[in-house]
Amino acid sequence: MINVNDVIEMEIKDTGHNGEGVGRIDGFTVFVEGGIPGDHLKVKITKVKKTYGMGRMIEIMTASPNRTEPRCPIADVCGGCQIMHMDYKGQLEMKRKRVEETLARIGKIETTVHATLGMDNPYEYRNKAQFPIGVMDGKAILGFYKKGSHEIVDTEYCHIQSPINETIAKVMKHYIDSFGVTVYDEKKRVGLLRHVITKVGFTTGEVMVVLITNGKQLPHKKELIDLLIEGVKGLKTVAHNINEKNTNVIFGSKTKTLHGEGYITDYIGDLKFNISPQSFFQVNPMQTKALYEKALEYANLTGEENVLDIYCGIGTISLFLAQKAKKVYGVEVVEAAIEDAKHNAKINNLNNAEFHVGKAEEVVPQLYKEGIRTEVVVVDPPRKGCEESVLETIVNMEPKRVVYVSCNPATLARDLAYLEEHGYKTQEVQPVDMFPHSSHVETVVLMSRVDK
Ligand code: SAH
Repeated sequence: MINVNDVIEMEIKDTGHNGEGVGRIDGFTVFVEGGIPGDHLKVKITKVKKTYGMGRMIEIMTASPNRTEPRCPIADVCGGCQIMHMDYKGQLEMKRKRVEETLARIGKIETTVHATLGMDNPYEYRNKAQFPIGVMDGKAILGFYKKGSHEIVDTEYCHIQSPINETIAKVMKHYIDSFGVTVYDEKKRVGLLRHVITKVGFTTGEVMVVLITNGKQLPHKKELIDLLIEGVKGLKTVAHNINEKNTNVIFGSKTKTLHGEGYITDYIGDLKFNISPQSFFQVNPMQTKALYEKALEYANLTGEENVLDIYCGIGTISLFLAQKAKKVYGVEVVEAAIEDAKHNAKINNLNNAEFHVGKAEEVVPQLYKEGIRTEVVVVDPPRKGCEESVLETIVNMEPKRVVYVSCNPATLARDLAYLEEHGYKTQEVQPVDMFPHSSHVETVVLMSRVDK
């Protein structure tokens, strides 16, 4: 029997969804933040629930061979990276194992999971940053929220972001301090500047800066733009978004372009994308390419096949596959994303992609009724996975191959189990590391139809 405040020694065997260490004491599961598999720890129990407990690490008795000093000095206070204290090799293996165990436990699918596809340099990979702005001792601070709070940690350099952010942060602080611009206070709801958003095109070097204000006017606009042009290499666009609401949502509804065209351009492989202040774009473009190349390999297209891409977002996978397919149908619920998808098809001269807006669970059965059948179906659903009606329609469409791109191993396991019960067999399972130092796991799976 374990009680709160007990001090015990334990081995960490696994990692939980949020990157915390997991161990067992007499069969009872205990989660320990900061623990990694292979650690032998002294832990103080902080919470005991019916089926699990939580503990705080008080001493590392023997460190896991994968334990390492995080490159970032604020890794343990910042909410951004959960597993930077694990070496990269350990992170990749942990993600692979998580997929393998989840498929076996939830889906009863016993299969070999390939080694996680990682990055050569797992740093500076993010192309988008959101800095809340605050003030400390009369000076502007910019950085990230502390874990589980809205207190800002002042950081000019984040190791997973593009290094250009450091320059942008310096310019912004200089602007705020020299012109006495006020910053937003969430509690009192006063002050002007709320957030700075930056986006970078990794292949083009183009940079966008978006300022979010609680108020319609941006003082010393001209001076700010000049400072940014002078200081930020590759600056292409500056935009201003107004958000006067008392909300955690970052963007307000109105955006004005202050400098440039209002968008930047980037590429994934040969495909070109225009990225505007609020449009969605994958945050790790290098690994996105690796992921889509895997999806393309699994789709095994010769140019004769039709493809259905369900949950297609701005059409990135659809267009990637359209380069090798006869025709691609994309389905997505967000109307603005479908507009972007159509625009992206146009700027890439791809006219064999057709996009449908609506809920997959309504649109896909409708397409089936209209007689649409494709050799390949790709799904890339949100965390909750596919609705059963979507899976049922896929089964009825009898595609030869299903390529499942997943950001949640648990719902992946559930959905693969459904497809296995209905005539499909899991052939390949490939985790891809889209977010080094975080506990997120992305997986691409190939299933093929078993001949009847
Ligand atoms: N494949 C895309 C993004 C996938 S993210 C890419 O690679 O960029 C999952 C997408 O599913 C989101 O765009 C989300 O808006 C969409 N979505 C969520 N629920 C949906 C539903 N019920 N029907 C259709 N699309 C949905």
